[in-house]
Amino acid sequence: MAAEATIRLAAFIGVLAAMVLAERTWARGLVRPLGWRRWPANLALPVIGSVVLRLVAPAGAVGVAVWAEARGLGLLPALGAPFWLALPVAVLVLDLSIYWQHRVFHFVPALWRLHRMHHADPELDATTGLRFHPVEILLSLGIKVAVVVALGAPPVAVLAFEVLLNATSLFNHADIRIPARMERWLRRLVVTPDMHRTHHSEVQAETDSCFGFCLPWWDHLFGSYRAAPAAGLNGAVIGVPGWRTAREQRLDRLLLQPLAGTPPAGFPQKGT
Ligand SMILES: [Zn+2]
Repeated sequence: MAAEATIRLAAFIGVLAAMVLAERTWARGLVRPLGWRRWPANLALPVIGSVVLRLVAPAGAVGVAVWAEARGLGLLPALGAPFWLALPVAVLVLDLSIYWQHRVFHFVPALWRLHRMHHADPELDATTGLRFHPVEILLSLGIKVAVVVALGAPPVAVLAFEVLLNATSLFNHADIRIPARMERWLRRLVVTPDMHRTHHSEVQAETDSCFGFCLPWWDHLFGSYRAAPAAGLNGAVIGVPGWRTAREQRLDRLLLQPLAGTPPAGFPQKGT
């Protein structure tokens, strides 16, 4: 378990550093007035989330997978699936469950209030990929644990998936410009920053599309894919109206934001 935490932390710091470097090298060139002023809260949130997780469920999803494996629980062991098959199947099913979890968090008003805090970042960079409310992180763990036990996912698959999800979240929120040809290819394999940018548009029909975090296939399969925002990638307004000021990016404001009513202007009235 100690190795698990080290692997996750090393992967997280490595990918975050790579993304910050990539953002400096291949920036989109958009004006981002708040920039680093969003960072203290965006970086504090995953720390708080990790502490809460370790307090509530010290073993985490990987620990639960170890527990289930020792008892032979779940569908994959019941079917006698060999490890080479169980590994990719478990990663795929976990990614599919995160896709549906994300859709549910958009459409159930109380859950949208929690997830809305992530969308209320008025600018996108790698740190947005870390900005999730601790309660959302806890609920997400509960869903993940249920899938892990039902499936009998191998612990290595759960660890690989958690590292992958964390890395792709940092990548698909990063403020980087990818050449059009590379984008066309990359988008077939992984959710790219351009694809995920549509999801962060303030236009509701656009935010309610492109729910994938890691694999882009589920959006195609379940009809939620949108190639680009109507206003164009660089023209799309990011965030949630009413929560765009520097003051609203403070940690205390973000933690309490789910309790706040609807934002003053138009957009997401789902959370009422
Ligand atoms: Zn979302």
